[in-house]
Amino acid sequence: MLNSRESSPPVDAVSYDVSLLRKLNQLGPRYTSYPTADRFSEDFTSADYLQAVANRRDMGARHALSLYVHIPFCDTICYYCACNKVVTRNLGKAALYLTYLKREISMQSALFQGMNQVEQLHFGGGTPTFLTDVQMTDLLEHLHGSFQFAPDGQGEYSIEVDPRTVTPKRIVTLRRQGFNRLSLGVQDFDPAVQKAVNRIQPEEDTLRIIDAARYAGFRSVSIDLIYGLPKQNVISMAQTLKKVIAAAPDRIAIYSYAHMPHLFKPQRRIADADLPTPEAKIDMLFLCIKRLTDAGYVYIGMDHFAKPDDDLAIAQRQGRLHRNFQGYSTHAEADLVSCGVSAISAVGASYSQNEKTLDAYYQRLDQGTLPIARGVKLSTDDLLRRLIIQRLMCDFELSPASIEIAHPIKFNDYFAAELAQLKLLAADGLLKLDDEWITVTMKGRLLIRNICMVFDRYLALGRSPLRYSKTI
Ligand code: SF4
Repeated sequence: MLNSRESSPPVDAVSYDVSLLRKLNQLGPRYTSYPTADRFSEDFTSADYLQAVANRRDMGARHALSLYVHIPFCDTICYYCACNKVVTRNLGKAALYLTYLKREISMQSALFQGMNQVEQLHFGGGTPTFLTDVQMTDLLEHLHGSFQFAPDGQGEYSIEVDPRTVTPKRIVTLRRQGFNRLSLGVQDFDPAVQKAVNRIQPEEDTLRIIDAARYAGFRSVSIDLIYGLPKQNVISMAQTLKKVIAAAPDRIAIYSYAHMPHLFKPQRRIADADLPTPEAKIDMLFLCIKRLTDAGYVYIGMDHFAKPDDDLAIAQRQGRLHRNFQGYSTHAEADLVSCGVSAISAVGASYSQNEKTLDAYYQRLDQGTLPIARGVKLSTDDLLRRLIIQRLMCDFELSPASIEIAHPIKFNDYFAAELAQLKLLAADGLLKLDDEWITVTMKGRLLIRNICMVFDRYLALGRSPLRYSKTI
């Protein structure tokens, strides 16, 4: 990490300024990448990806490697869903998918042979536990035969689990299969909310799975919640939070529901009249922050909370936090190699995304090429802005001098227009500017996306913001 201060200010309170939040609550990216995925172009081909890997090899560097594996299948649809998934109950579809997925994994492993050690693995979806035990064992054996993995104590090997699809016995099996972190989709414990989003998930089932994860020796259990769902209100959210805090997960992610039925078809099943008002959403968000920080969780930023002794909180204190397509991560500077339909990789100065439909994905692999559909090569300016956005999102502070060490620019000249915009946000109390540091205030942490948007060159080019969600 570049010239970070010894420790960030403690995050135990976030100022509540509703009028400011309303004023600045605009459409904007979540910055899991920069440039954001809507900038990817079909001009980027698998040849560009091969070049990015070759450049990495030429550097002779041995970076940690992060692997992402996408399992797109779900057996029912949640109405709020914005993921790339295939709804089916046909297990045969997964069997076919696995043959292609393993082919892609083999192609990627040949490219990275001898270069890297996997320190992070994440199974996401869809529903990774749609796979049977036998299919999962087969896939993991293939992965371990293809890549070199760090020992269990050093690596972070996580899987998203839908508690509706697993038994406690399955959780024990997942641990034996090599996973050491579990992320559970909960969203809300309230039965009315669950019914409104078509995700009936009895509370007892979720708690049983958390107990099983502890028994099985998972190092970390994380729970995902959503605020802004239909039928949700501050009272129901308070009850859900009470139950979540009692369950004591190591990490909690609370995502804002982005209602964008023009982009995501399942969301058309959600009645507008059932959605909470923007004011109620902000009240729910503050309730979450208050209850969780009172309960001892550290507010990491954006939508993440962690116990003070969790790796995520420790990484933030030490200035090594990173942000990628899975949100906040402890493994900075790792190349991310993603396999599966629609999966996005980040290797060297490139992003690349696989074909988004199963047919196109299979067809490309049948042709013997990597199934890359689009991507982007980062320019020097992109790399500079990515670094700035990363540090602001993860550390909530930035030293312009450290940027000048890494990039041959005069910060104040290069970013004169951006600094003028930052001064306006500083006047609103979102950040402080002095000769040495740009420091995001407690108030600014909630609106960190707005602050990062100042450095997004592509937004200034006037692309329609309709693909983005509201920043709160
Ligand atoms: S939210 Fe998750 S489980 Fe529900 S349909 Fe989407 S991917 Fe599947």
